[in-house]
Amino acid sequence: MIGGGFIGSEIAAALAMNGKEVVMIFPGKDIGDRVFPPPLAQFVSSFYRQKGVEILAGEEIVGLETRGNLHVLKTSSFREIVVDGVVAGVGIEPNVVLAQSAGLEVENGIVVDESLRTSHPDIYAAGDVAAFYNPALGKRIRVEHEDNANTMGRLAGRNMAGKSEAYHHLPFFYSDMFDLGYEAVGEVNSRLETFTDWKRPNEEGIIYYLQNDRVRGVLLWNVWEQVEAARQLIAEPGPFTVKDLEGKLPANLPT
Ligand SMILES: Cc1cc2nc3c(=O)[nH]c(=O)nc-3n(C[C@H](O)[C@H](O)[C@H](O)COP(=O)(O)OP(=O)(O)OC[C@H]3O[C@@H](n4cnc5c(N)ncnc54)[C@H](O)[C@@H]3O)c2cc1C
Repeated sequence: MIGGGFIGSEIAAALAMNGKEVVMIFPGKDIGDRVFPPPLAQFVSSFYRQKGVEILAGEEIVGLETRGNLHVLKTSSFREIVVDGVVAGVGIEPNVVLAQSAGLEVENGIVVDESLRTSHPDIYAAGDVAAFYNPALGKRIRVEHEDNANTMGRLAGRNMAGKSEAYHHLPFFYSDMFDLGYEAVGEVNSRLETFTDWKRPNEEGIIYYLQNDRVRGVLLWNVWEQVEAARQLIAEPGPFTVKDLEGKLPANLPT
């Protein structure tokens, strides 16, 4: 498995759970370290090792050769790894060629206004490829997750059919790794300041991502039905200190 992000971690877990010998190779220090704060990322790597996954961190693939039925992966530190199959989960780039050739404004994806209209009034964009302004985060973002694609697609369709609704939805995403699972909202970037509020260390808890005394993202680690509460927290102007966040979620929201 090349890559240690969402796709890499999910596929490695799925293969291992199906009895395959798995080697994960990625340039970072630990699995998911662009999202998880370092102690949690270290825990996840050791958890995968316990499950039998071999982890080659700090390595990049520089070559791939096929010899008969086998494949030989060559790494940046001159290792050769012989495998039956290769899966690459190394990220995507939005395909904006068509949009560019149509003269649409493109900037890290197809730029849309809050009604999901592109720079051409008759053309709308939604999903992974669309860059939209999110008021809670106060900036233009592009999201590569299912909740965003589904919600945005529906709203674009309604607006194309004559409605005039604003897309203010802050998407969430989810992932499962063996028997660990999480849901996340907003900017979950381990380079932000983080505060981890464990109920049970590494098993159940909430990670808050802060910037300029505001909550920018929330990662719900084996904590469920808190996505809406997390969205509300991200929309709050703050200021928040780490102390204010202790025990803040899970929250009881009216149903
Ligand atoms: C392996 C994998 C696992 C994932 N797991 C998760 C997950 O666990 N949770 C989560 O939230 N998200 C997950 N995602 C992300 C999620 O699948 C995407 O966010 C979602 O599919 C985006 O939907 P979309 O409609 O914007 O784009 P896509 O689903 O990529 O659909 C784009 C469609 O447009 C077509 N197309 C492109 N160019 C043209 C053209 N010129 N003419 C006609 N058609 C064209 C493509 O062929 C494709 O059918 C995963 C993605 C992958 C690849």
